[in-house]
Formats: sequence, structure tokens, C-alpha cells
Amino acid sequence: MSQKKSVVTLCVLLLCLYSVQVCSQRRADENPPIAPTDAPRLVVGIVVDQMRYDYLTRFWNHFGDEGFKRLVGDGFLARNNHFNYVPTYTAPGHASIYTGTTPSGHGIIGNNWFDKENGKEIYCVTDTTMTSVGTVTTAGQVSPFRLESSTLTDQLRLHTQMRGKVVAIAIKDRASVLPGGHMANAAYWFQGGSEGHWISSSYYMDKLPAWVTDYNASGKVNQYRRPWDTADKIDTYLESGPDDSPFEGTFNGKDKPTFPYDLPLLWDSNGQYDLLKETPYGNSLTTDFALLAMDKEALGKDDIPDFLAISYSSTDYIGHRFGVSSKEVEDAYVRLDGELARLLKALDKQVGEGQYTLFLTADHGAMRPSGELKQKKISSGDEEALVRRNEFRDFVAYTYGTYDIIQNISNHQIFLNHRLLENLDLSPREVEDKIATELIKYEGIGRVYTAYQMQGEQYNRGIPYLLQNGYNQKRSGDILWVPSPGFSDYGATGSQHGSPYQYDTHVPLIFYGRGIRTGSTLLRTEIPDIAPTVSVLLGMEFPNAATGEPIAEALK
Ligand code: ZN
Ligand code: ZN
Ligand code: ZN
Repeated sequence: MSQKKSVVTLCVLLLCLYSVQVCSQRRADENPPIAPTDAPRLVVGIVVDQMRYDYLTRFWNHFGDEGFKRLVGDGFLARNNHFNYVPTYTAPGHASIYTGTTPSGHGIIGNNWFDKENGKEIYCVTDTTMTSVGTVTTAGQVSPFRLESSTLTDQLRLHTQMRGKVVAIAIKDRASVLPGGHMANAAYWFQGGSEGHWISSSYYMDKLPAWVTDYNASGKVNQYRRPWDTADKIDTYLESGPDDSPFEGTFNGKDKPTFPYDLPLLWDSNGQYDLLKETPYGNSLTTDFALLAMDKEALGKDDIPDFLAISYSSTDYIGHRFGVSSKEVEDAYVRLDGELARLLKALDKQVGEGQYTLFLTADHGAMRPSGELKQKKISSGDEEALVRRNEFRDFVAYTYGTYDIIQNISNHQIFLNHRLLENLDLSPREVEDKIATELIKYEGIGRVYTAYQMQGEQYNRGIPYLLQNGYNQKRSGDILWVPSPGFSDYGATGSQHGSPYQYDTHVPLIFYGRGIRTGSTLLRTEIPDIAPTVSVLLGMEFPNAATGEPIAEALK
């Protein structure tokens, strides 16, 4: 190659290199690398206790523009969202939302259950090794130690090297403790009776922060010691039944379940501050305290994501007392809409619009009172408690010579006394089968399955699928049943939940804010999908036993 030729070649080469570099630079400018996450500064998880899906649609016309309508209009609504296990109770509900799995995985099989190891019934969060903080009662002796898998909130703590804060707030202890997970900076719940204070457990802290003590001492809670009347004119509440119906309960000292409720007059006969829990004022109290916590704990104030878990418990108390069709429930949701508006406004101010992400769901639905269903010609009835059924006691005693092989009956499960079975040389499997065959004859019992089936089969749909997701190999009983549709063991007035039926499983799920698409889906989503969806948004590890899948449509 001549000298001249090689100079030309070199020039061409350099030119090529230059243009490649310019081109690639331009390409980089046009398509900057996409970060796998665009995490919000604050995640707010809202659980509305006992909110059926149709409360969103039935009461829609009463909502303002700044609450539910803002969340649905600018956020993402999963319209076919369900619990995928039984029993549909508060503690399993909150645990499943936050762990992304079901009782089979997280171990919270009820609010209370029979502890096989110690042979006694326990409450999901009671922990007598803890001491109360902020109350003279034992109401603070709780912890999440029975929750066997990690939560969304735990993962946030791990992901941020414990720099992201987690604060959980609810009227009910279990609705605060379980969402807060194992590493919450704080979990607070409301102590009624003569105290009327927000309290906690030594699991989280030695004493209440000054801002909580000050709030408790301020007596601000007493602003709610006033009559409860409807927020809108009662004759505009066309989406619910008559105010005075035979399917409603009422408060002690009030002969009719009708507005207005004079709380000062009813105060002493209804547990003093406990009375507030059973009115919409309990939800207002929750918002008040959540807003204060947000401010005092500086949640969402820096780039490290924080988590505020709020559960509105009063809707559940009101539903239990007055029932799905009551004016009292309608008023509770009209007022809750105002609470959401207040919360969103404060979030815009404190964290900034577009800087936070929020989800809203429920821990279970509720059934119409069985008397009301019966009146409307739908099959329904009272499910007589199995323990009280003479036919069952007689059957067991006659077949096995003793009733003592039954150790406990709770949460629609029978726990057999395995030691006694062994002594009597009885095969557990045969006993399970024989009892199941007996139970299915009883009115009000819809389906019966055995532990043997739960462990040996793999169910993919229908009621056995829900039972299996609720069945925990270590903790659950030996025979499981579900009531027939429309049957409940709750009594004549008010609403109950716990079943695998649509009225208990179908609940709203709304995502809103940073990283969330506007829209909706009719594809089935399940409660354990929530935690993985939020985990993707935060770019972090899923809770360790999660079985749900991220809802791809909801995310940008
Ligand atoms: Zn509940
Ligand atoms: Zn009423
Ligand atoms: Zn309930």
C-alpha cells in the first residue's frame, strides 16, 4: 500500500468512526435508557373494611368529584377483583393483600383460630410477651409474630436498607399490625372504652412519640361525640332500603334503627369511645390521625419511598350492625368519599400530585341479611352452629363411642383429637370421610372437604380452589365445610361475611397515581396480585411467599 493511499484510508476510517459515534450519540439522546422503575415517594395502601364492589357503583351518584370519582377517573379500576380463598375475614384479608399470598402461605387462617400446638383458641395478633404502649389495658399486647411470610411493607424496608418508613393506622389492631408487617416503624390502633386514644405495642416502640401523646391529650377526638345524622338528605338515599327495617340491629338504648343517632345519649350504654368505631366518625378519626402521622413522620418528603397503610374499620362495624341494604351503610360510604377527598388533598399538598401512588381495596365483602333474602324469595337461612347440633353430637358419640374425638370446631373447620384417634386405633382419613358424609346431609352446609383432599389434590377453580388456598397444612383443621349460598351463622339482623360466594369475594381494587395507567379491566384479578403489582412499581423483590401476579394492564 502506498503512503498516500494509506493516509486516505485512515481518513475514511476516522470519518466513519466519527459518524458512528455521532449517530450513536443521537440515538442515545432520542431514546435515553429506561430505568426499570420510577418509584413514588410514598405508597398509600387503603383497605376499606367490608366494602363490597357494588358499593362503588350503587352509591356513585352521591360521590363528589374529589374522592372515589377522582381515583376511578384518573386511576385504574379492576372491576372483576376477588378474594381467592376462604374464610373471607378481616385478618386473612389484610394479610393476603399485603403478603400477596393466601392463608395457605401466610398462616393467618382466621381472626381467631384453634392453635393445635397449644390446644387453645388464639387471636391472630395477640402476643403476651409484649407490653401495651399508651393504654392501661392489655390492648397493646400484640405483634405480627404469627404472620409467616413477608409483606409488601417488609420488602420496602429491606429494599431501602431500612431507610423507607412504614407507618400503619387503623381502628382495629389486626388491620394495622398485619399491613405494617414485621418491620414497621410504627403501627397504631384505637383504644375505645373510657380512653379514646391511639395506642401501640412494645413490639414497635417503648413509648408513644410526643406528637401522638399530644394528640391523645388534646381531646380532639371529642369533636365526634355528637349526633350522627345523614350527610345528604335521607330521602335522596334511594340506593338503600327503608331506614327502619326488621333486618337491622340498633344501638343499646335505642329502640329503632333510625336516624338521627344521639351519640352523647347513647355513649355510656355502648362502650363510650367504642361507640365512635361503629359510626362514620371512626373513619374520620382515622383520616385525622393518618394526616397527622404523614406530617409528623415526614412521609413522602424525600426520594426514598415510604409506606402509609390505612384501614377504614368503621364500615365493617356499621355493616355488621345495620346490614348491606341499610341507609346507615349508604351514609357511611357517602361520608367515606369525603374522607378520601380530604386524604388526597393532603397528599397533593404534602407529597405532591404525581409523586405518590395509592391503592384501595377491601378485606372482604358481605352478605345481605338472610331474613331480607328470604323475604325476597332467594334461598337463604340461618346456619345452625355445628357444636350446638344434637344430631351431630349424637352421630359422633354413637359412631365412635365418645364425642371427645372432636377437639375443636371453629371457622367452619373441625379439628380432630389425633392422640385419641390413635389410642382408639381409628384412621384419621376414615374418620374425616365418615364425618364429611354426615355433615353434607345437614341443612345450611353446602360443601364438605377433608384435609386429606386438601393435601392430595390440586384444585384450580371453584369452591375447592378457594378452600385449598385458605387451607394451611400446619394450622388448619381436618374437615372443612362451607355454608350453602345465602346461609350464615350470624343471626337475624345485620350482615356477615366469611364465605366463598361472590357477595364475600367481589371487592373493588383501584390503583391511582405515579406509574399507574388510566383505565379499567374486566379480566379477573385476585387479591394476592396487589402486592406483586406494587412491588414491580417500586422495583423491589416480591414478598417471599407471594403467589399473585402483577396486574400488567394497571402499570405504565
Ligand atoms: Zn373486615
Ligand atoms: Zn336504619
Ligand atoms: Zn366483619
